[in-house]
Parts: sequence; structure tokens; C-alpha cells
Amino acid sequence: MKKIHNTLSPLIVSVLLLSLLSCTVLKKPSDITRKKPYDLIIKNGFIIDGTGNPWFKGDVCIKDNKIARIGLIHENLAEKVIDAQNLFVCPGFIDIHTHCDRRIVQVPSADNYIYQGVTTVIGGNCGGHPFPLKELYEKIREKRASVNFGCLVGHNTIRQEVMDFKMSDPTEEEMETMKALVDEEMKAGALGFSTGLSYLPGIYSKTEEIVQLASVVARYGGIYASHIRDQGLYITEAIEEAIKIGEKNKIPVQISHIKLADDAVWYQLERIIKPVEEARKRGVEVTLDQYPYTATSSGFTSSFPSWAFEGGKENFLRRLKDKDTYEKIKSYVIKRRLTSTKGINKPETIYISRYRKFPEYEGKSLQEILLSQGNKPTVDHAADLIIDIERNGGASGVFFQMDERDVEDLMRLSYTMHGSDGGVQVLGRGFPHPRNYGTFPRVIAHYVRERKIISLEEAVRKMTSLPAQTLRLRERGMLRKGMYADITIFDWNTFGDKATFSNPHQYSQGLMYVIINGEVVIENGIYTGIFPGKILYGH
Ligand SMILES: [Zn+2]
Repeated sequence: MKKIHNTLSPLIVSVLLLSLLSCTVLKKPSDITRKKPYDLIIKNGFIIDGTGNPWFKGDVCIKDNKIARIGLIHENLAEKVIDAQNLFVCPGFIDIHTHCDRRIVQVPSADNYIYQGVTTVIGGNCGGHPFPLKELYEKIREKRASVNFGCLVGHNTIRQEVMDFKMSDPTEEEMETMKALVDEEMKAGALGFSTGLSYLPGIYSKTEEIVQLASVVARYGGIYASHIRDQGLYITEAIEEAIKIGEKNKIPVQISHIKLADDAVWYQLERIIKPVEEARKRGVEVTLDQYPYTATSSGFTSSFPSWAFEGGKENFLRRLKDKDTYEKIKSYVIKRRLTSTKGINKPETIYISRYRKFPEYEGKSLQEILLSQGNKPTVDHAADLIIDIERNGGASGVFFQMDERDVEDLMRLSYTMHGSDGGVQVLGRGFPHPRNYGTFPRVIAHYVRERKIISLEEAVRKMTSLPAQTLRLRERGMLRKGMYADITIFDWNTFGDKATFSNPHQYSQGLMYVIINGEVVIENGIYTGIFPGKILYGH
């Protein structure tokens, strides 16, 4: 890195000199008097305001990071004009469900998000966030980021910090320490609290523990977001648990990446709708987020029984050496990951996305790997392979386990919004789930334009004002005078995702402009290299 800086420094110096010169030129008194009232006007667009209302024709004026006026405005009134003739102009997309906290400091351009039209990302989901949040925010303030960033406090992070991988209830003292840490993170500006109840070590916790921790969040007006305990046969009970945690503390409940993830419950939407709508009738604010694909993605660790990791990874490796324990673990892996009630050949539906020890397996299915090793692709061998992967330090995978009909039916619910469940990517590295690059454009291209599942205005509402309302981001998510100027402009005929499971590292097409806090981040489809994102603090 040093070398690059050294070779660039003459260039930087000359750029600085040039900009100093141009500043002096611009600051002649006559120019100051002629300064125009707006910094930027977006002319002639079809405006979708984010509320779900149908589009209307108009111009949007921006001044000092905010929307100053919407109407029919003469272009002479702005320093810069974007002609949005035949383009849709809508609020920047808000991704309520990401894991961007993990890499936003290393890759502050967050290219895979801005190229989807996303202007705000929320990290800290599924129970994990970088502790302490104060330090993460300091780093982001120092490095800056292209997008706005907000974060939740992760239960797993807090529990591990205090109790490590202990498979028991917290003692009174441990509970007090955890509460104090949640309080510290909320004070640092977290927007709420998240759990990952099928991940370690959150899986060891009981409902009451989370009810108590969420009571801290309630004092700060935060939300509760839950990766629930089960997304298959026990999904109703899992949703009811999340609702109970929110209801007891009188805080909103966001059910993360909603899905029927087991073919035994496909097409049984009432398992989700019934508990959610009953709670909403009682006055509990329950909402859902969803990514528009039929495959999930997570670490292979989630294929194992929680007791196998009690006390940490070394204990897991020790347990594998005992023959009986190995068989017990294996039968759980088969039941959890490799069994189908609909006769689906599971080893064919599970792919490796990132595997540090054997990167040559990335992008391949368990079936392909077994065949390449000269093994029959049976369920039995696939289970051994999954255990092997975990023994070798683990890997992340892509699991095809949903049905298209359920994805579409869940999308139709008015309280479902879109969220990628992705993270900041390094272009070309590994085989990540295409949701990282394609979630928002895919909804518009595939589910609005081709399948006509919801209207364009409804899709935009689910990407903008609905997540903003859920997160209490009162100055974003709509095109209104006084709101922050986060704006996404796209071409209706071509906007769409290009990322696929076999070729995921592809940006979308048809995205023309992205404006974040009044600054143009994407211009004519190309990233301008600036970092106008702000940290979004809780109340
Ligand atoms: Zn999750």
C-alpha cells in the first residue's frame, strides 16, 4: 500500500493545486453573487415518492444534502442539472437487513450496494455486530463510506463476550453484565437489538433472557430484529417467541429474512401469517423482511446440533473423535440438512460459497465435490463431507431450500419489505449468494416487470418508506421537502440484476444515478468515488 501512495503522491499534489486554483477562480465576488439557489435539479423524471402512491411528473431540487423543493422548476436555478427524461426517480433504497458491519471499514465504497441503488445499509443483524460499536463508528467516521450506515446490537456478540460458549442460563451477575453492554451499545447509537437464535451461542438462550435484554433497548426506542429459532416445522412457535419478546417490552418486532425453509412446510403460509396478523391485531408492530431468491446462505455450522459446540470449537473437534458421538452428530446433520419430504436430492442443492482451506471447491455442489473425490453422492457421504468441512475450519454455503411460490406470496404481504441479508463484497472473491449484488434490481426486474407480483410503486415502498418507518429513520425513505436527498434513478426498461449463482460478482444494469446526502455517487451508471454516507444513530 505504501508503494502505491508514494507513486500517487505527485498526482495528488497536482490535483490539490488544481483544485486550489479553481477554488480561487470560483470565489471571485461576481461569481458568489450569481450563485444559484439549488445545488442540483433532477429534471423531467417520473417521480415515485416512496409512499406507494403512483408516479407523477416533476423535478426535484437539492440544496445542502436535503430535498429543497419538488415541482416544476426552471433548470437555470441550479448549479448542476440531471436530465431524468424517461427515467424513474425514487428514494434511495434502504437495506434493513445486512451484515455490512463486517467489511464496511475495509471496503468503504460498498460497491455491491451502491450499484443496486441502495443508499442506506443496516448492519448487526442475526445476532452479530462488531463490539464495541463505538470503535466501529470511529473507524467509519475516519475512513468514510459511500452509503449511510446504521447498526443493531447483536445478542450473540454480547452473550459470547460475557459467557463465551456456555450452554446454560446466565447467572444474575452475567445478566447484569450483558444488560450493561447492551446499554453501552445503545448509548453509542445502535438502532435496536438483533438475535440469531439458530446460531451459536444465542441458540443456548431461553426466551426470558432475551426479554430481559430487550428491555434495555426499549428505553432507547430501539427495535427488536430476530433471526428466529426455526424456519421450518416450528416456524410458528419461533415467530411467536419473537413476538412475545417485542410485546413484553412494547417494541417493534422485525422478523428477518422470512421464508419457509423446509420442503415439509412449503405452501403453508398460514404458519407465518397467522401469528403475525394476530399480533398486529393486538397492536404489536410486527414486520418482515425478505430476499428475492429460493436459496439461503450461511455457514455450515448451522447444520450441526448446538450441543456439539458446547464449550467451543476445540470441544467440537474432540467430540468428533468419539465414534458414538460422531454418529449422533452425523444423524443430526442428515436430518437438518439432507432430508427431503418431497424426494429432492439434497447433495445436489447445496453449494460451497467460501471455503478458506479448499477454495477449489467454491462454487461446487456437495454432489460435484463427492464425485470429484471418487465417492458416490449419497446422503451418507454428503453428511461426512459437511462434518469434514467443519473440521477444516468451516465454510459458508448456499442452500436451495425454498419454493418460488412461497417467495412470491410472502412478497405480496403489505408488511414485508426487501432486505439482502448480504454484506460488503470484494469483487471476484469466492462465490457469494447473488443477493449481495442483485436483491433490489431483481425485485424490480423479475417480480415487478416480468412476473407482475407487485406494482413498481409498491416495490419501491417496500425498499424505502417501509424500512425507514420500521427503523424510525424519520428523515429518509421518501421524496419530500426537508428529507435527506438519498435518491435512486433508473431506466424502467433495463434496470435489473445480472448476478447469478454461478456468476455472482456482477453489478446491476439500467441504474443511471444514485445520490446520497445530496451528492452524486453514481453518475451515468458509474461510481464517482466519493464517500458522502453518514452514520445513522438511534434516538
Ligand atoms: Zn440470519
